[in-house]
Amino acid sequence: MQIFVRSGHNPNCGDEITLEVKMNGNIIEDLAFSGHGCAISQASTSIMIDTLKGKTLEEAKEIVKIFIDMIKRETKSEEELEKLEDAIAFKDIANMPARVKCVLLAWHTLEDILNKKH
Ligand SMILES: [Zn+2]
Repeated sequence: MQIFVRSGHNPNCGDEITLEVKMNGNIIEDLAFSGHGCAISQASTSIMIDTLKGKTLEEAKEIVKIFIDMIKRETKSEEELEKLEDAIAFKDIANMPARVKCVLLAWHTLEDILNKKH
């Protein structure tokens, strides 16, 4: 079991999170976060944790990429979007530029953790 911790900060809104990821081999066994921020950043973090718990490293990387692409409007593939499960609820945030950094904070923080593993 390995534990990875990383903090992220969105100065535009004051959102701050610290993300903790427990890896058991190739599986994300658990994720937890602490910190504070607006309702959107907190909700996005919670849904990310629910979605990725139990996934493999490869699955998690793919989902994180699809989510970020969805918010940046770089994917419209239904097949890809289905992999997001409940996180697809944030799709319309792409229409609210001021909120994009809030919704992506946790996902970018996790992306850093996942990519550092190699
Ligand atoms: Zn925010």
